[in-house]
Amino acid sequence: MNGSGTPKNHTLGVVISERLARYAFGDGHPFGPDRHAAFVREFESRGLARRVQFIEPRDASYEELVEFHTPAYVDRVREQSANGHGFLDTGDTPAFRGVYEAAAVVVGSTLNAAEAIMSGQCRRAFVPIAGLHHAARDHAAGFCVFNDCGIAIERLRRSRGLERIAYVDIDAHHGDGVFYAFEDDPGVIFADTHEDGRYLYPGTGFANETGRGAAVGTKLNLPMPPGADDGAFARVWPRILAHLERFQPQFIILQCGADSLDGDPITHLRFSPKTHGRAARELAQLADRLEHGRVLALGGGGYNRTNLAQAWTAVVESLLS
Ligand SMILES: [Zn+2]
Repeated sequence: MNGSGTPKNHTLGVVISERLARYAFGDGHPFGPDRHAAFVREFESRGLARRVQFIEPRDASYEELVEFHTPAYVDRVREQSANGHGFLDTGDTPAFRGVYEAAAVVVGSTLNAAEAIMSGQCRRAFVPIAGLHHAARDHAAGFCVFNDCGIAIERLRRSRGLERIAYVDIDAHHGDGVFYAFEDDPGVIFADTHEDGRYLYPGTGFANETGRGAAVGTKLNLPMPPGADDGAFARVWPRILAHLERFQPQFIILQCGADSLDGDPITHLRFSPKTHGRAARELAQLADRLEHGRVLALGGGGYNRTNLAQAWTAVVESLLS
């Protein structure tokens, strides 16, 4: 930012790496290894590669993982990663040989992207294979082993002293792993649109869930009926912006899951990529009004490969504008 308060540097950092692509549950799985490649193809065909700054992935350390997760859970993932057997939850998230390392690279990529923003190396950032919002402090859930969103929140507080961090989630699924981990924490400004939990996993995120204790009112859950489209999103989106304006967050995380697009094989919302582009653009504008510009977008879900490529490149284009 320059002295007049007008942001000039719109540099966008992006993590693209075969190491990141390894976080996947096998060919034929909705969260398969081809998701990263599908994004990269569209990203390159739109000429975006020459407009961004690449950020390297890295392994998150054990110490970073246990800032959010319980040591017992992290140890269990490490053990199951060595033998590659069984599930890390009750049946959605299979262990595979190397799952610990693959999940640690997702976290490390998100942390490197957050750090690149905080150090001023870039103003905004995007990580495609990230935003693993279902993982709880003590267990995996819904294809999510380590919750990179939650770990980034903990890290930004401890290393940078941030007091108000916004987490916005437009994935079709409720970001339950983030929500319940910080339900009583007023420093996490949470806003989530998702398909109504009566119709879709994980079955949570009702409008009356607004936080607990000192955090009441810092959480906004906006369930949408199956079939909700861009028009339905446009009607609720101003509430999310107003929620963030009220709390003046010092950093904004956007989980831009592409499974809220029409044609996803496992959900029932009907957004178009325009919604994802709009969310990213308006959050970037809000961050600029708050005079820090900090937006970190994380790919999240999305199981139709064309959809994820379209939605995520729309996010990248918005963050570059
Ligand atoms: Zn999802």
